[in-house]
Amino acid sequence: MKVYKFGGASVRNAEGVRNLRSIIEGERELFVIVSAMGKTTNNLEAVFDACREGNIEAAEAKITEIEAYHQQIIDELYGEPHPMGQVEGFLDDLRRFVKTVPYDAARAEERYDRTVAFGELISTTIISEWLRSSGIDNRWVDMRHCFVTQFRHKDANVLLDESAPRLRREVAGSTARVFIGQGFIGSAADGSTTTLGREGSDYSAAVVANILNAESMTVWKDVDGILNADPKIFADAVKIDALNYVDTIELAYSGAQIIHPKTIKPLQNKNIPLFVRPFGNKAAAGTRIDGEAENVNIPIIILKRNQSVLRLRSRDLSFVLEEKFPIVFSTLERFRIKTNLINNSAIELQLCTEQSWRLEEAAEVLRGEGFDTEILAEVELLTIHNYDEATLAKLDDPTRIIVRQTNPKTIRIIRSKE
Ligand code: ASP
Ligand code: MG
Repeated sequence: MKVYKFGGASVRNAEGVRNLRSIIEGERELFVIVSAMGKTTNNLEAVFDACREGNIEAAEAKITEIEAYHQQIIDELYGEPHPMGQVEGFLDDLRRFVKTVPYDAARAEERYDRTVAFGELISTTIISEWLRSSGIDNRWVDMRHCFVTQFRHKDANVLLDESAPRLRREVAGSTARVFIGQGFIGSAADGSTTTLGREGSDYSAAVVANILNAESMTVWKDVDGILNADPKIFADAVKIDALNYVDTIELAYSGAQIIHPKTIKPLQNKNIPLFVRPFGNKAAAGTRIDGEAENVNIPIIILKRNQSVLRLRSRDLSFVLEEKFPIVFSTLERFRIKTNLINNSAIELQLCTEQSWRLEEAAEVLRGEGFDTEILAEVELLTIHNYDEATLAKLDDPTRIIVRQTNPKTIRIIRSKE
């Protein structure tokens, strides 16, 4: 068995879906994990946000937009107006949910998961049905029934022992040998839908590969492979041919948009190689990730945007560090706020976090715990691994620096947006 993963950008239009078909055509034993099409997850987040703000009309308008976008892809795939079928059923479910279940702040994360999961349910349904109609026999797999996750909304991990028998049963019970399943989603023991963290489809594919003892996993992307920088931001980015698991985790954690950081562990545990290959060129080799590759030694530049800095200062000038760490991090964890960099002095703690609608709430809790708080929104985190003078001279703009941490191999800079 091989596992292929196609991200949202790859299947953002009918042409992308046709290309997916040409990539999988001829494969005999294949599990395909697909993300939501294009920007659908963002649009579903907007549906959630509108509900949170009590604006049901705006939520419904957004759903209509999502519907029109998918209808167009379906029509283009079939070359004529074509009924939405099961996709309409999902959209009806979502509409009903938005209209009949009032927003409850205490269950916000659960609501978020239920809302955004529709993106993958819809994309896989469209792709599976169209592939079948165009001659590729396949089985649509509902990953909510296969992946049992932690009871933790918005960022759950898959429980391998519980999930393995379910997924194996699904595969063994099918005559089709090509499987199409959703990335990003699963369900908790109580049956509620969970998601695995934004961009979590890579992780879904890795868990499938682990459970099915796949010979390899391939992520098909709109880049040539893994590059040493984002080519959309840095013009002279170059491709890296081979990477080891450890370097890859470090890069992913720093925010390289290559692969979700949780992807590597399930692969490493079974020594399954991971390929990152260009969606537009089936002949190109891309990047190979495994346990054996040498460490990379060229500079690697990672820019993580949409960050905030949370500054905490203990009001009574007691030392922030020793006693207060647990309360700070348990609060952030409670609100699912990810910390990407920590910088501390005797009485001040600066945390670079993902932007989150929960940050202000977290700050309020921490004020109640005796901190003065300040939030700097709209900052970015620049990481340079294997830095050298030339790269630094080009990128390190002293006027924008908020925090700068230097280690022998890595520099990390929180800076204001340009
Ligand atoms: N559709 C989800 C997201 O956009 C998961 C993924 O793309 O991997 O975050
Ligand atoms: Mg995506």
